[in-house]
Amino acid sequence: MATIIDGVKLAAEVREQAAGAVRELAAQGVTPSLAVVLVGDDPASASYVRMKERDCAEVGIDSRDLRLAATTSQHELDTLIDSLNADPSIHGILVQMPLPSHLDAESVIARIAPEKDVDGFHPESLGRLVRGLPGFRACTPAGVMEMLRAYDIDPTGMNAVVVGRSTIVGKPMALLLLEANATVTVCHSRTRDLASVCRGADLLVAAIGRPEMIDATYVKPGAVVIDVGINRTDHGMVGDVDYAAVEPIASAITPVPGGVGPMTRALLMRNTVAAARAASGR
Ligand code: NDP
Repeated sequence: MATIIDGVKLAAEVREQAAGAVRELAAQGVTPSLAVVLVGDDPASASYVRMKERDCAEVGIDSRDLRLAATTSQHELDTLIDSLNADPSIHGILVQMPLPSHLDAESVIARIAPEKDVDGFHPESLGRLVRGLPGFRACTPAGVMEMLRAYDIDPTGMNAVVVGRSTIVGKPMALLLLEANATVTVCHSRTRDLASVCRGADLLVAAIGRPEMIDATYVKPGAVVIDVGINRTDHGMVGDVDYAAVEPIASAITPVPGGVGPMTRALLMRNTVAAARAASGR
């Protein structure tokens, strides 16, 4: 029987800490604010944005809802980002991904002022992570690290295997685990004999986007298993891990839903408060 790592409970704790910091800032006349930019009407993106705005309301962050038509041009979006960068009342800027295909996501991310990059996707934020300097860490991998800390799981010396090498999850996850002294292997779609590499893991992070792909044959008994995947199927939302098969052999596991997802959103709140604090010199 694995320990179930409760992302819902931990996320509530992170939001409560953020709310405490917001109250302190409010006493000094500062209200943290987050600009949430949504281009187009993708239903999944709209639902993520709604959840983020709800979190902001709970924590006391002022969220500015900026909805743009799917036909918005690159120039219009760039102009909006420039105005948000220049607005001292905005502390964090989030552009919900994916953007419609005619827009250049990389250039939009790079245009956000690094001090307002609360998603942690800007090249400067990623460079700071690589160099081990303070800066915004991407919310999903930062949320995973927070989960490990909360459950006293110290990655030091562990063989950690991260499946997935995206810039928003896999790569920063690997770097954070390396920073935490794990011995890290990063796998992807070209990895040979993935199951056997995964079976070497004391700590296995699945960030793949393939429903329930990681079954018991990928998992060493006693491993810690972190499931980042969010896959919508006919049977509802499932992770990248076959939870029913893996839970009996893992020592600890995150469920989907109720695991990494809520923590990702909570870390966005923490990053936004940190941005407001830094901007106001507090
Ligand atoms: P990407 O599609 O950007 O990356 C997926 C990665 O998985 C790639 O590196 C890809 O390899 C690898 N991969 C795909 N298929 C296989 C395979 N059969 N075997 C081994 N590796 C494979 O996805 P993201 O990183 O953005 O997201 C991953 C998952 O996490 C998704 O389910 C997403 O919804 C979820 N997610 C959850 C969040 C949360 O808050 N819980 C936040 C962000 C994402 P290659 O590079 O070779 O193509």
